[in-house]
Amino acid sequence: MKKVVKFGGSSLASAEQFQKVEAIIRRDPERRYVVPSAPGKRFDSDNKVTDMLYACYHLAENGKEFGKELAQIAARYQEIIDGLSLTVSLKEEFDTIERNFREKAGEAYAASRGEYLNGILMAAYLGFEFVDAAEVIRFAQNGEFDSELTNKILRERLCKLDYAVIPGFYGACEDGRIRTFSRGGSDITGSIVARAVKAEVYENWTDVSGILIADPRIIEDPEGIDTITYRELRELSYMGFNVLHEEAIFPVRREGIPINIRNTNRPEDDGTWIVESTCQKSKYVITGIAGKKGFCSVNIEKAMMNTEIGFGRKVLQAFEDNGISFEHIPSGIDTLTVFVHQDEFMDKEQKVVSAIHRLADPDGIEIEADLALIAVVGRGMKSTRGTAGRIFSALAHANVNVKMIDQGSSELNIIIGVANEDFEQAIQAIYAIFVLAQL
Ligand code: ASP
Repeated sequence: MKKVVKFGGSSLASAEQFQKVEAIIRRDPERRYVVPSAPGKRFDSDNKVTDMLYACYHLAENGKEFGKELAQIAARYQEIIDGLSLTVSLKEEFDTIERNFREKAGEAYAASRGEYLNGILMAAYLGFEFVDAAEVIRFAQNGEFDSELTNKILRERLCKLDYAVIPGFYGACEDGRIRTFSRGGSDITGSIVARAVKAEVYENWTDVSGILIADPRIIEDPEGIDTITYRELRELSYMGFNVLHEEAIFPVRREGIPINIRNTNRPEDDGTWIVESTCQKSKYVITGIAGKKGFCSVNIEKAMMNTEIGFGRKVLQAFEDNGISFEHIPSGIDTLTVFVHQDEFMDKEQKVVSAIHRLADPDGIEIEADLALIAVVGRGMKSTRGTAGRIFSALAHANVNVKMIDQGSSELNIIIGVANEDFEQAIQAIYAIFVLAQL
């Protein structure tokens, strides 16, 4: 049995946090492969090392002096080394980094040093072997992650090691050039390692005890989620849940490996299990509510549209030609509405409108701005009658006007469009009817 454990930046921000992490790892000998992030914030106004590295490298890139900034980064690591009484010295590493910064080794190289150095310290502290991600996580020359080659290289390397530390967030092309995933990408590395070693579980340790049903900035003290499926989480992350990197579920999903989100500061909490499928009912009909503001709807009308084959394709062509992706397309008999991100659409709106006219010859087009989309997600909705009805009566009671509703045929989620200004109130009303009313 093998467990892969990934620790986020706040779990590794100081020597004290390192000690908590060590205790967690030692408690279970199956916790064999450790994926660390770079040191995060120790307190609210603190800086993440990754951000410090980006800023420092920008100075170097623009030919400015960066010695002071690099020394501040070195001090963050030294504090950890001293706090843990390690005998490691990072002096040579920092000399190399300074040299490479002067030679403009690239932003990805710079950012990756946060995880790289933390990995060296973590390996020394635990007595595990350090495996540089540049050797085992492979990107193609065009910058795309090469999942199959990585899986092969990583599997071969790790099957020879009982215990190892593999830094998160980066990898390299065949020529050795460093590449990173997008921000928060250590979650992806953890998932890739779990797939390669066919882990029994991928534990993702962070600073919250799992995933919450709704955003705590909107709902006071929301309930946590015990178990959620990959598909449910995918819907919710797309709509704004950000406990785990959006792409982190893909590698483990292929092997059906569950992800367990845990809290380094409260290791006794069970956290949230993210699984392929489960017979466990969620406590409530819904599993989670998420949403985003800043959408625009483009409503296209044409009499007898329903009989015109190819109308939808022509409309979407107008968006595609202008490089705009759409979110949802609910349709009526003589109308078709396309939801898009307002900030992407704004500059190109007139081009899109004239393209729709040219390609599809509609009777009229109307644009509505400042809309929010809310996703109500739950595997329990399939077997429960009246979910949509309950949502709409809750919204009507809260005086929220519903602009759009879209239910996928999987019955896993219902998407609701409301005005931006009704967003918070709508989420509170939905939470109240499904969760508070049942407590
Ligand atoms: N250190 C990187 C970041 O801040 C990656 C990570 O922590 O997952 O985005």
